[in-house]
Amino acid sequence: MVDQSARAGRQPGGAAPGFAHAGLTGSFLLDRDGRVLEADGAPVSACCLADLVPEFDAAEFARWRIALDGFPAAVLRLDFPRVDAPAVSLRLEREIDGRYLATLGGVGDGDGDGYRERLENRLVFEHMIAALSTELIHAPSERLDGLIEQALGRIGSFFGVDRAYLFRFSGDRASMDNTHEWVEEGISREAHKLQQVPMDHFGWLMRELLAGRFVHIPVVADLPPEAATEAAEFEREGIRSLVLVPFGEAQAPEGFIGFDSVRRERHWSADILLGLRLVGQMFYNALRAQVMSNSLITLASLDPLTGLGNRRLLGEQLAYALERSQREQTRLAVVLVDLDDFKLVNDSYGHSLGDEILKTVASRLAASVPAADSIARLGGDEFVLVVHVDALDSLVQQVERLFEAMREPVELRGMRFVLRMSAGIALYPADATDAEALLRQADTAMYAAKAGGRDRHAFFAPPMALASRTTLTLRHELQQALERDEIRPCYQPRVALSSSRVLGFEALARWHHPERGVLLPGEFLEIAAQGGMLGRIDQRILAHALADLAGWRRSHPDCMVSVNLDASDLQDEALVAGLLQQLDTAGDLADAVEIEITETSLMRNIEQAARTLARLREAAPGLRIAIDDFGSGYSSLAYVGRLPVATLKIDRSFVAELGGGNPRNARAIIHSIVDLSRSLGLHVIAEGVETIGQADELRRLDCLEAQGFLFAPGLPHAQASALLQAGFVTAAGVHAVRS
Ligand code: C2E
Ligand code: CA
Ligand code: CA
Repeated sequence: MVDQSARAGRQPGGAAPGFAHAGLTGSFLLDRDGRVLEADGAPVSACCLADLVPEFDAAEFARWRIALDGFPAAVLRLDFPRVDAPAVSLRLEREIDGRYLATLGGVGDGDGDGYRERLENRLVFEHMIAALSTELIHAPSERLDGLIEQALGRIGSFFGVDRAYLFRFSGDRASMDNTHEWVEEGISREAHKLQQVPMDHFGWLMRELLAGRFVHIPVVADLPPEAATEAAEFEREGIRSLVLVPFGEAQAPEGFIGFDSVRRERHWSADILLGLRLVGQMFYNALRAQVMSNSLITLASLDPLTGLGNRRLLGEQLAYALERSQREQTRLAVVLVDLDDFKLVNDSYGHSLGDEILKTVASRLAASVPAADSIARLGGDEFVLVVHVDALDSLVQQVERLFEAMREPVELRGMRFVLRMSAGIALYPADATDAEALLRQADTAMYAAKAGGRDRHAFFAPPMALASRTTLTLRHELQQALERDEIRPCYQPRVALSSSRVLGFEALARWHHPERGVLLPGEFLEIAAQGGMLGRIDQRILAHALADLAGWRRSHPDCMVSVNLDASDLQDEALVAGLLQQLDTAGDLADAVEIEITETSLMRNIEQAARTLARLREAAPGLRIAIDDFGSGYSSLAYVGRLPVATLKIDRSFVAELGGGNPRNARAIIHSIVDLSRSLGLHVIAEGVETIGQADELRRLDCLEAQGFLFAPGLPHAQASALLQAGFVTAAGVHAVRS
């Protein structure tokens, strides 16, 4: 810390090693072992906490430190009664760089008002910080900037300064921008003048800030000669005192917050400076989350190929359009468009040409129905339009225009293609009133149009549902899907609850159906199981996951992946041989793989499962086995001991109950699962975490790892990689992903 009060000879406190001074008050910075580094801002050597408070020994410090590390916002206060002297109070809290702030004071009236007032001030400030932290976490991205300025204002008024602001450094550290500002009434705003300020202009100041140190200047006139440029600038602006607090990584700050006093000089105490450091860090985290959530929103809601919305965005826009139609009593049409024989083009001319065609289709759709509420690509060659309907005639005209636009030949690579399509139409409110049903009916109508000879549109009519595809067709398609590698994993991040760090992913099967878009396991696993194809799907997912994992581990050696296996797979000898072979080829990679088997499927044949799992582990000793949906089945804990299990995945129904009407029951169950696994040396992970409240509750219950929509849904490989690269997920970012 650069403290000009020390340079100028205003030595605060005068605390000396040994601390025999009366009243034992003051602020101390401690390291992780309880050694005192600074006393009231002055460096100290060879002294420890026990010298200050003999009642508080080193072992005790270790215990409290663990408590403090677990809860970033915790402040501990301990009172020590003494026989012949006034009682002493010790407050301990954590500073961000792994140092601990200790404040010593008397308890009761013993040591005057100064200390008490400081403590009270401190307490109000802490409340402010705590409230701010919650506000920032919950702030929607677009409100963040306003919130930061408000907070600067609250802190600025509280401390009676005249200007409070936030600067961010450019990526190359060449310039900085004043992005947020608050000023006291009657004080001039400066932010607009302070854009792209060259950083080398203030050499001394920047050296200090870039090294991660506070700059505290109680009296501008006392600045050292090497800070002449800075002193001149401050005097020009009429600043008499200021404090600047950097934020970002300790070694590579990203900017700073600052507070100027124009009307009078002001000294900032060390503990308030530490509080400001926390505030700066909170702003920084929130700003970073904002950037990430914005890019995730774009990533998560747009189809990268065509730039149209994807299924997610369609869901949102359709819900919104439905709400509006309901309110305004208007009609709405969901038009599902599917190209005819697109597969032929793709297969004969290759995917890159296919992609060109899809882009053309997208722009034609957008051009011919400019008034659409939503135009999205569902996947493959399937598109959806949502349009308001004034009269059926005009709807039909619009759809006809669409067909015409599509028939215009496309010239690509010296060839001419004529595109044809089929369309299915469902109407709100006549056919259905919710988004899902409307889409389903448009889909059914689209198949009717295909069945009717293609190159046409059809409206939904109820009896069609009966004629829609049977289980048999689906089974046949599934067979083809496996041959064409249409069933591939998406990846849901597994996250450390304490830090939101991404630890790895669970691979979840997705069927990229050429006509129906992305299908979820619930839509095909049952049929796959009946057709005896589940094992092949699991093997395929494992193969993909292993390949992706190998790529990820090149840059993130700790990354792990879990895959789902149905216990029935374990009874099929051919399949087991296949799995063994895959694991064998994977070599060391298998150490980073976890196999999830649901409790219920395990219970169906526990003896055989135990034997086969043991064989898998023989082939790949590092392979971990997890029991999925733990607690939802028979939960006979006895089997846990008989299986080579490493992990329990707490079923998401318990997590859901945490936020529900009777959280006590769920809390008790989760508590006992965590307890049990600790005593058995098992790892625990909670799934289905959807709210910040649930995450907090789980953290309190000592659960260290989680998955859920709060953090992210299953993501395509590219997005999962991006997330891994970013290193962590934020609750704010996640809302974006979800909504
Ligand atoms: P699971 O193993 O329990 O996987 C978690 C499921 O919960 C996934 O659904 C996931 O998308 C969903 N989920 C994740 N976070 C949340 C949340 O916060 N809230 C809620 N409500 N749900 C959440 P998905 O992908 O539809 O998979 C369903 C089930 O299908 C899986 O349940 C798993 O049992 C099975 N499955 C998925 N992929 C495979 C596979 O490759 N092989 C086998 N045998 N089964 C699979
Ligand atoms: Ca699972
Ligand atoms: Ca599960």
